[in-house]
Amino acid sequence: MLNLKDPSLLKQQAYVNGLWCDADNGETIPVTNPATGALLGTVPNMGAEEARRAINGANAAFKAWRGLLAKERSAILKKWFELMLANSDDLAAIMTAEQGKSLTEAKGEITYAASFLEWFAEEGKRIYGETIPTPAHGRRLMVTKDPIGVCAAITPWNFPSAMITRKAGPALAAGCPMVLKPAAQTPFSALALAELAHRAGVPSGIFSVVTGKASAIGGEMTANPIVRKLTFTGSTQIGQLLMRQSADTVKKLSLELGGNAPFIVFDDADLDAAVEGAMASKFRNSGQTCVCANRLYVQDKVYDAFVEKLRVAVQKLHVGDGSIAGVNQGPLIDQNAVAKVEEHIADAVAKGAKVELGGKRHALGHTFFEPTILSGVTQAMNVAREETFGPLAPVFRFHSDDEVIAMANDTEFGLASYFYSRDIGRIYKVAEQLEYGMVGINTGLISNEVAPFGGVKQSGLGREGSRYGMDDYLTVKYWCVSGI
Ligand code: ADP
Repeated sequence: MLNLKDPSLLKQQAYVNGLWCDADNGETIPVTNPATGALLGTVPNMGAEEARRAINGANAAFKAWRGLLAKERSAILKKWFELMLANSDDLAAIMTAEQGKSLTEAKGEITYAASFLEWFAEEGKRIYGETIPTPAHGRRLMVTKDPIGVCAAITPWNFPSAMITRKAGPALAAGCPMVLKPAAQTPFSALALAELAHRAGVPSGIFSVVTGKASAIGGEMTANPIVRKLTFTGSTQIGQLLMRQSADTVKKLSLELGGNAPFIVFDDADLDAAVEGAMASKFRNSGQTCVCANRLYVQDKVYDAFVEKLRVAVQKLHVGDGSIAGVNQGPLIDQNAVAKVEEHIADAVAKGAKVELGGKRHALGHTFFEPTILSGVTQAMNVAREETFGPLAPVFRFHSDDEVIAMANDTEFGLASYFYSRDIGRIYKVAEQLEYGMVGINTGLISNEVAPFGGVKQSGLGREGSRYGMDDYLTVKYWCVSGI
């Protein structure tokens, strides 16, 4: 079982309006370790009623929180940030146990997650307005920014901490309360964050965590007119549903949805660097991130050499329980995730792709899967259209720049994209033509707290992190002062 320095960080109750509580009906849902199948504990199986209570509590707490000086809110957020770092070993252990990623990656995520609290603690002090030169005598025009109001957040299991702080950081810094529903698979990371928020001095009602029935809680969050903003990270399908449900109350939405990232290697690329980037982008979190390379396009001349170098690198990956030292590929989150990878491989092979490495469930059982490389992959295969969300690297062949740009853009998604080239003209041309919210050039790692993360097309709305991330939690008020 979990051996924590501070066992009080493992909470098996929800945190609503400053109180740890159970579901009204006493029901619970189990949380298991995907590496072993072992039961880690339970959390309350709450529904609409508890969500409504949290929303009402947030509304009651809103006025006092927005009334604080930005500097005062900043001090609390900084304390929360410091507590995350001080407890990073325990937070990482909880994350690895419920999510499966390696301890090294989990520690990296805690640092990354905490960085959003620090960044927005600072940015909150810089929510500047504007004065506009008047078009008429006797008038003064200005613009101020207000916190949007009560925010609801729904987060996924693949980044159990960072997807929360990336939303709560700007919301709280802007003066908004937040009610969060974490993913059912990874509630303990969220509840540990709530405990640290409490210790940091975040007032009751300003950050509540409601665990339980996704559709009931999500239904209340979207239907309730008190909620002025909904922020969601997850699948495009659920994002569309939440958008539809939010229409009646015209909520502001931030949606970080699916991706189908192209990773293009041109024939002038530094191949070793490209392989290193592909490994980082493709196999991080066992391929379970929305910015993971999903389609590797490699130019004809360097295709064979790239596949060979990739094979050597992938063979060095160590699959196992993420809590074991040296392991860098944990299990997939559940059997559905495994089934999807199997389906993509079977479809590709049936249509002529070749398995270069891996290709099947791992001998360790559970939800472990062999890191896999497919060559000879074409646009006709499902993997070209759908996000795999697993450790599968499908390698496509291309000939010309125009051809690969067309293939890369041939998707309804537009989150992350990557390419490797050393030709400055090509770099500008390709970066300008890729229809994506983010472009990594000669790198496979692009996420950090200071840069705007987000997509175009059906990958979503809004940006998280960076100074743009604050805008999503603010409204613009125009003042027209007359009679002067
Ligand atoms: P994934 O495929 O990554 O699990 P989902 O989009 O299914 O992503 O889930 C992401 C989050 O959305 C989770 O917290 C999940 O509980 C929540 N969710 C799923 N269905 C609904 C729903 N009908 N209403 C609100 N939230 C939902």
